[in-house]
Amino acid sequence: MNLLELPVTTLAHLVQRGEVKAIEVAEACFARIDVTNDRVGAFLALSREETSLQAKSIDEKRARGEALGALAGVPVALKDSLVTRATVTTAGSKMLAGYVPPYDATVVARLRAADALLPGKTNMDEFAMGSSTETSAFGPCRNPWDLSRAPGGSSGGSAAAVAARMTPAALGSDTGGSIRQPAAFTGSVGVKPTYGRVSRFGLIAFASSLDQVGPFASDVRGAARVLEVIAGRDGRDATSLDIAPGRWERDCDRGASGLRIGVPEEYFAEGLDAEVEASVRQSIDQLQADGCVVVPVTLPHTRHAIATYYVLATAEASSNLARFDGVRFGARVEPSRDLRDLYGATRDHGFGAEVKRRILLGTFVLSAGHYEAYYLKAQKVRTLIARDFAEAFERCDAIVCPTAPTPAFLLGDKTGDPLSMYLSDVYTLPASLAGLPAMSVPCAPAKSGLPVGLQIVSRPLDEATMFALGAAVERHHAPRAAAL
Ligand code: GLN
Repeated sequence: MNLLELPVTTLAHLVQRGEVKAIEVAEACFARIDVTNDRVGAFLALSREETSLQAKSIDEKRARGEALGALAGVPVALKDSLVTRATVTTAGSKMLAGYVPPYDATVVARLRAADALLPGKTNMDEFAMGSSTETSAFGPCRNPWDLSRAPGGSSGGSAAAVAARMTPAALGSDTGGSIRQPAAFTGSVGVKPTYGRVSRFGLIAFASSLDQVGPFASDVRGAARVLEVIAGRDGRDATSLDIAPGRWERDCDRGASGLRIGVPEEYFAEGLDAEVEASVRQSIDQLQADGCVVVPVTLPHTRHAIATYYVLATAEASSNLARFDGVRFGARVEPSRDLRDLYGATRDHGFGAEVKRRILLGTFVLSAGHYEAYYLKAQKVRTLIARDFAEAFERCDAIVCPTAPTPAFLLGDKTGDPLSMYLSDVYTLPASLAGLPAMSVPCAPAKSGLPVGLQIVSRPLDEATMFALGAAVERHHAPRAAAL
């Protein structure tokens, strides 16, 4: 039995019952990482000793007759933008090379409390800015389905870890698609919860009004289990909602019959790859055969989403990244003539080209004289985009569409042209701007064998419908692991 091929819920069950020891899982996990990670580059750092100590303590707990948590012995990889006590956390940036945080992010603490294993930190685009994991300061991550291709981004390392079954689940963060798009590119399930569902305490901030932490897993039920563990009110994040997590795992058994699924015409337009379209339409037909009612809907402001996002996200980033100044933590370039020189030299050395581009753009759109023309206008368009969804949801229970316009692209294909990179977020940005829950679930692969993702967007806080539909889609397409 290959323990890492097992779904999250099965593995936890076996460990809870004592049929498999957590230490066996930990050993299998590192053995798998050792034969695959050199080729894939999913992990930036591994916590071998800590994980094996943790596994042993889980096994001892069971031996004492204590009940184990919901993720007993399940290895969960962590995006490197989630801070971890005593473990290097870089957010994919030279700025934080070697930085060891003094505390755990709330989601990390919740995983530990649920008896998950935390084998390591995953590769990502620098400060989560990118769609391919190529802006990482520590080298790109590769797509386990085809090592010449990108795993998507910015949470590419977490997606690749799950696709190659180095871990059955992982956490990522999604600001404009960074969980859903890599999930689509690597054939895994990826969930961005409703904004405010999951604490951002200890998530290194990119754009705070958009950032959400969420799970990757090899199957829909596994993603539901992980989300149940990490969701819920946290007093240390003022935007965290005081709403208890749902029973999403149970929703996976609900079936899709009777649900009205909205198909937005704007998401099936120019730029959509023909094979992606065919796979997504096939899944829609299958849902219809399962008893769903298909409703055409329109989201007319979709075409402004990219411009809106890249104004708002860069504005917030320019402010959030001001803290990296060489004084408090992270890199520092010395000798410096004076404080201003220290700031300049440190930031010039520590940040990569994409991060600098975003800081420049964001500072520009917030500057006096430009604020009204860009930032304020983008805020208004954001409201219109949210209103589009609210109107569509009067006619349907969830929206289904492609997650990304193409399957995984080749490494290097878009690095020279930031705009073409930004275009790969075209279908994920609108739900982010509207703060809605959204998931990517694998549908029929392309002829090349590359995975294709179907996106499901539901009403605010209605993750239940999203999971019910996701599980229904998955029933037609059993989870596949990349052969490596
Ligand atoms: N690709 C988008 C960007 O570059 C989204 C990234 C994200 O969700 N963190 O900003």
